Amino acid sequence: MKTAIYPGSFDPITLGHINIIKRAANAFDKVIVCISVNSEKNGGLFTPEERLELMRKCINVENVEFDINSGLVAEYARQKGARVLVKGLRAVSDYEQEVQMAIINSKINPDLDTIFFPSSEKYTYLSSSVAKEMARYNADLSEFLPREILEDVKKKLTEK
Ligand code: ADP
Repeated sequence: MKTAIYPGSFDPITLGHINIIKRAANAFDKVIVCISVNSEKNGGLFTPEERLELMRKCINVENVEFDINSGLVAEYARQKGARVLVKGLRAVSDYEQEVQMAIINSKINPDLDTIFFPSSEKYTYLSSSVAKEMARYNADLSEFLPREILEDVKKKLTEK
């Protein structure tokens, strides 16, 4: 069984992430979408547990699971018996950092490889940060975020 891990912050999940998840689910037997609790990026809009709930609300694909991990993703992959990390590539700016991470991860876990999915054209400029910024200005979010979570995001921003 070919299992892939798709790690990220997902704060919150966007239509760009969902696009990658569905494509990865077509390519692998199982995909574990893993919320990485990153020491540098802590203090996000949603807690990791809330992010997981939001993902569950909008994705129901048989071979896709969700999880939270606070350790090294390369070690996490080993524990899960996964040999592939999935990453989405938007602009050239993603590329440099992601290739560096891929090399580091394969040094930690030599059985692990990283496979990149090019962002679909529609979502090339979409990130969670962009979606949050647009939400703060009450912009139309229907092209950025799944409709199932629109209200949750708006509500959270008014609370903060
Ligand atoms: P961001 O906050 O920038 O959305 P994440 O850490 O949540 O970043 O992203 C997780 C993974 O998803 C990364 O591999 C990132 O490159 C990828 N990704 C994020 N947004 C998109 C998108 N719009 N299209 C393709 N890949 C994406």
